Amino acid sequence: MRALFLGAHPDDVEVCAGGTVAKLTSREWEIFIATPNLGTDRTSEARAAAPMLGALYWPWHPDAPQRAVIVFLEQYKYDLIVTPSPQDSHQEHREVAELGYALARKNNVELWHMNTGIPGGLAISPNLNHFMTFGVPESQAKSDALQAHGSQWDKYGGWKWHNTIMARDEHYGGLVGALFAEGYERIFSVG
Ligand SMILES: [Zn+2]
Repeated sequence: MRALFLGAHPDDVEVCAGGTVAKLTSREWEIFIATPNLGTDRTSEARAAAPMLGALYWPWHPDAPQRAVIVFLEQYKYDLIVTPSPQDSHQEHREVAELGYALARKNNVELWHMNTGIPGGLAISPNLNHFMTFGVPESQAKSDALQAHGSQWDKYGGWKWHNTIMARDEHYGGLVGALFAEGYERIFSVG
């Protein structure tokens, strides 16, 4: 099985879905984390973070037209595509959601919206209807991956940023009877 996790920024997937990625890769899924290339520093952070989750980081050219990005990402067939929500208040997240929809339609596969990022700003939360639960090893891998994003670590307040993200996982885990969980809006039959 193979999944594509799309972010608008190099840390989006780690923040919103890092535990899920770690869980799926431990079950032999092949996972690509793809985002626009936002420069050398952030690319190297993402390249360091992805293997901590067992995934591959795959940046695309930030100025490439959408059709070209779709062709680039279509080098593989996916069983699952995960994107930001198309209702996200952040325009760049919405643009990436559109990419995800185009790919999901063409591959005729399931698509999930990730939860909002932290800090989320004025974001409309997706209508969460699916929780991926995970345990301590996946949570530890996510923690390591977050710490690999040093620029965001400094920008958003270090451990406070990290702990807020991890506390949300604990909160959702508590709702569904697990140690940790990440929430999604699961979309069936995109086509
Ligand atoms: Zn983002």
